[in-house]
Amino acid sequence: GGGAVEASLRARIRQVPGYPVPGVTFLDITPLLADGAALGQAVEALAAAVAGIEFDRVLGIEARGFILGAPLAVRLGKGFIPARKPGKLPLEVARQEYQLEYGQAAIEVHQDAIRPGDRILIVDDVLATGGTSAAAAALVEQLGGRVAGFAYLIEIVALGGRRRLGDRPVRVVLPS
Ligand code: AMP
Repeated sequence: GGGAVEASLRARIRQVPGYPVPGVTFLDITPLLADGAALGQAVEALAAAVAGIEFDRVLGIEARGFILGAPLAVRLGKGFIPARKPGKLPLEVARQEYQLEYGQAAIEVHQDAIRPGDRILIVDDVLATGGTSAAAAALVEQLGGRVAGFAYLIEIVALGGRRRLGDRPVRVVLPS
């Protein structure tokens, strides 16, 4: 990422120590989202970051993966697939459960959202441990799709989440 835009985006991410639990510093992107120029620059930077990855649709992970993934899809002329928390989608779903630090979580997509051979770009705001993204990738593959790559606004590099994403391309606007 280039200097001035990257610095401007970083300045609009708040660090909230101790949220949601002690020991975690939450990266709050709401100031960035609230600024029209910064929001546009973030989407533009994501579009630039995924240049060269060939894919058919964006899969965004609820909820902040929707906020960034949908405008990215529009920007690149692609469709959008919501990966939702359990019980939100009305028709037949594929589900993937995964471990959180405390307890279990799951995400779901409509079974007809991905067809065999579809190339899917997985998008979220933050790559932390990679558990959520690995579950999203498993969901894509469960339905016969292919994971073309992953894109994030922020990567918490020290958590090593990339190791859980295999050898597919991982693109990040702001390493942290
Ligand atoms: P993980 O599965 O550990 O990679 O966590 C990724 C998911 O949790 C993403 O949807 C992020 O939005 C959220 N997340 C994890 N850690 C943080 C953090 N420190 N600040 C903000 N969001 C986070």
